[in-house]
Amino acid sequence: MSETVLETKHLKKVYNYNTPNAFEALHDINFQVFEGDFVAIMGPSGSGKSTFINNISTIDLPTSGKVYINGKEVRRMTSNEIGHFRYENLGFIFQDFNLLDTHTMYENIAMPLSLAHVSKDEIEKRVNELAEQMNITHLLHKYPNECSGGQRQRAAICRALINHPRIIVADEPTGNLDSANSAELMKILEKLNSEEGVTIVMVTHDPLITSYSSRLIYIKDGEIQTVLDREGLSQDDYFQKIVEINSAESRELIQQ
Ligand code: ADP
Repeated sequence: MSETVLETKHLKKVYNYNTPNAFEALHDINFQVFEGDFVAIMGPSGSGKSTFINNISTIDLPTSGKVYINGKEVRRMTSNEIGHFRYENLGFIFQDFNLLDTHTMYENIAMPLSLAHVSKDEIEKRVNELAEQMNITHLLHKYPNECSGGQRQRAAICRALINHPRIIVADEPTGNLDSANSAELMKILEKLNSEEGVTIVMVTHDPLITSYSSRLIYIKDGEIQTVLDREGLSQDDYFQKIVEINSAESRELIQQ
């Protein structure tokens, strides 16, 4: 049995807590991610996917319940400890790449290490290594707005990987990419997961993107509605099942 790297117990998130506008976005979520998992989170817009991913990755804190990452309860850490812990354990990939246009691609990729005061030589070695793997060595001196979406997302992946995280958290990572670049990104993530054992938790609305994962968590109205394990299914059969789950849910929304 693989080790649990991420776990929630009775996770609840209420926005505007204790005000007349209080809104419970997540209710009592119990969930585990094991080392080497590749989990996709799907669900209708407004169902709580981003809230969930933010709460399991230290970006936000639950209103009640517990979140454990590598056995550590996030609420028990100080904000300083959370920053350090995030640097050591987590890599983030976002839909809009989140690169700084005032910095070169090299500087963007190096940023987590620069902030952690790693030596210049070590930074250079690591940036060059990753840039080569992602095929963007020739773009390192350019600024993000001089590069294509696919190239920027590859730089964002380099930045996410620069500190050797064991867990990658991705929120709609292919949301701003065309289909060829999306497929390429998914192959990169799939390889990281299968060859290097990096655990991945990713939000997406696209069944094709989910078909690269090993488990689907379907969230609806702040609750886990369905869990689908890929198990021995081919990517094509898994894709069909993912489509069925999504279309059953969509049909239900139409009938309401
Ligand atoms: P999804 O990612 O599935 O689209 P979200 O997690 O963004 O859903 O949002 C879940 C629910 O919580 C939605 O009803 C949304 O309006 C609400 N919500 C999200 N962020 C906030 C916030 N900062 N303040 C108040 N309500 C919020």
